[in-house]
Amino acid sequence: MSHPATVDNHHSDGLSLRYAYRPSTEAQLESLTAEHTCLSCGDKGQFVTGDLGPKKQMASLIYYRGAMKCQCGFMNFAYVIINDLPEEKKNQAMPSRVSIDKEINEGNIPDYRMEEFLQMSAACAHNEDFDEAEAYIKRCLEIDPDNQAALYNLGWLCTKREALQDAVQAYKKVESISDNFPSASLNLGYIYQEAGDYQNAIKSYRKFLNRYPNHMDARNRLTQCDKKLAG
Ligand SMILES: [Zn+2]
Repeated sequence: MSHPATVDNHHSDGLSLRYAYRPSTEAQLESLTAEHTCLSCGDKGQFVTGDLGPKKQMASLIYYRGAMKCQCGFMNFAYVIINDLPEEKKNQAMPSRVSIDKEINEGNIPDYRMEEFLQMSAACAHNEDFDEAEAYIKRCLEIDPDNQAALYNLGWLCTKREALQDAVQAYKKVESISDNFPSASLNLGYIYQEAGDYQNAIKSYRKFLNRYPNHMDARNRLTQCDKKLAG
C-alpha cells in the first residue's frame, strides 16, 4: 500500500467516481468487479459477498457503487460507470468518457483523492495500522476540512488511541456541519459517559435518539446516566 504522501498523482481503478470501472459489456462488468483488488489484503477476487446495489445517476453519469466483502473481512467499495453498456447506449446515454469530462467541468464529481483516501484509511484501520489510517484522514482534511466522513473517522481513530479531547472536537465538528452522521452523537455520548460527564452524555444520547428512537444501547445508557445524576 502506498504512503499518503505519494498517492497524490496516483489513482486506483474503481475507488472513485472519476476513475470508476467503465465496462462496455455485461461480461466485462462482471469480471471487473470480480477481479477487483482488495485494499486490505491485496488479494484479487477473493470475495465472499458482492452486491452492486441500486443503479444510481448523477447528472449524465449512470453508475453502481458495488460493495464486495473479501475473505479477509474487509468491505471493498468500487464504482462502476455503465453509460457504455449496450442497454444504456440504447437509451441514449452519453459515452462515459464524455460524460465524466462534462461532470468534472460542471463540478459534479467529487475530488477523487477524497474517495481514495477514505477507503485507504479504512483498509489501514482494518489491518490495525492506525497511524497510517490517521495519516490518510489528515490528507482528506487538508483537501476539505469540513468533510464529515473524514472528521467522523478522525474521531474514531482519536478515541482508539485515547486522545479523547481530539475525538470530542472531531465529533462536535461533525455535528456542527449537518445531522447526516448521527453516530457522531452516539460516540460522543460514550466518551462523556466514560469520563463521568453525565450531563453532556445525556445531551448526546438524546440527540442520537431523536434520529434512532429505538436504539436499545443508547436508551439503556441514557437511563444509566439519568440514574447517576439523580443518585
Ligand atoms: Zn482482503
